[in-house]
Amino acid sequence: MDFSWTEEQVAIKEKMVAFAQKTLSDDVIQRDLSGEFARDLWSKCADFGIHALSVPSQYGGAEEEVDILTAMLAMEGLGYGCRDNGLTFGLNAQMWTVQLPIVQFGTEVQKRKFLPGLLDGTLIGAHALSEPEAGSDLFNLQMTAKKVDGGYLLNGTKCLVTFAPIADLALILANVNPELGKWGITAFLVERDTEGYTAGPVKSKMGLRTVPFGEILLEDCLVPESNRLGTEGSGFSLINHSLEYERCCILASQLGAMQRQLEEALDFAKERVQFGQTIGKFQSVSNRIVDMKLRLETSRLLLYKVAWLKKMEKPAMLEAALLKLHLSECFLDSSLDAIRTFGGGGYLSDWGIERDLRDAIGGTLYAGTSDIQRNIVAKLLGL
Ligand SMILES: Cc1cc2nc3c(=O)[nH]c(=O)nc-3n(C[C@H](O)[C@H](O)[C@H](O)COP(=O)(O)OP(=O)(O)OC[C@H]3O[C@@H](n4cnc5c(N)ncnc54)[C@H](O)[C@@H]3O)c2cc1C
Repeated sequence: MDFSWTEEQVAIKEKMVAFAQKTLSDDVIQRDLSGEFARDLWSKCADFGIHALSVPSQYGGAEEEVDILTAMLAMEGLGYGCRDNGLTFGLNAQMWTVQLPIVQFGTEVQKRKFLPGLLDGTLIGAHALSEPEAGSDLFNLQMTAKKVDGGYLLNGTKCLVTFAPIADLALILANVNPELGKWGITAFLVERDTEGYTAGPVKSKMGLRTVPFGEILLEDCLVPESNRLGTEGSGFSLINHSLEYERCCILASQLGAMQRQLEEALDFAKERVQFGQTIGKFQSVSNRIVDMKLRLETSRLLLYKVAWLKKMEKPAMLEAALLKLHLSECFLDSSLDAIRTFGGGGYLSDWGIERDLRDAIGGTLYAGTSDIQRNIVAKLLGL
């Protein structure tokens, strides 16, 4: 097997790291404390072309189109250079769960209408699937879409939605015929200024605090037929398709964050002296750092393998679930090991170490909890 990257791929990653280090990591500790989304940084990311990585060039994507494997390397570089995990999570959420479904399931008119604004940073998109009664049991969604003259009347509530409070556009899943169960699920592109659309306030949360998150309430919200994404009843396959991509792509930036976290823990262990020697010489500390390295490398192999499978247009449901499970749990474990390595300072907000732990927990929940990933793998193994 050849694991080497071309010079062009390495250059794309290095450019991303340099951009992120220079532009995106300024006052993240303060913004995390105040729960503030940096719209100006979002625009800078758009200008740099990050959003465009998930979209073909004819719809405004990167001029020199990159394949998914290269895009993952670039997003890893982003996570390495940018200390704001909320911002990188928000970017990934929009790129893989809003833009990509529009590219893959949208009409020509929908692509031309929505993609330019999403790519240039003027529009923010949310993917709204979860509901109070439909979390892990996502096909049990209660939001209805009744066919009427002029389109569909949508009614129901979406919760725990990334970007909900500020999104200009929401990809919303609703059921056109609850009697059909999951075969009635249909996707819609709902614009914020549509009558009957209400965005809830920003919900306070433990991590990923720099990206807003909340509810979307739809009450007799008339969505034109031209904003239906895909055919009636195609929401089930759209969700499966987009979850597979999401599980493949959404954590690439966390891998970069794990690399940075490891390097910082290593530097600290080589410098901090206690009992007359650097703490890295204590085996209990070095063992932790070896574990961090092992988690990083195994996560990396899984990420590249899944991205390669998608590049080859092969199914990767099982591998994507394994990747999502492994990488998210590894980031969580390594974030705790990083705090242990830094000692009491690691617990202080202004050292910037503890934030990763709070951010990492989100990764074990969104796009299907770790329990759900295990269920998927077990089922695909025939259990
Ligand atoms: C940071 C963050 C961002 C998110 N962004 C979005 C978004 O943009 N759009 C969106 O639609 N949603 C989003 N979500 C919601 C997320 O997808 C759900 O929280 C998740 O699917 C779990 O659903 P739930 O919270 O209702 O938990 P529940 O489904 O109620 O689960 C509660 C517990 O029961 C376990 N459980 C449930 N069913 C099973 C089972 N069959 N087998 C084993 N264990 C089970 C779960 O693993 C969990 O431990 C986000 C969540 C977070 C934390």
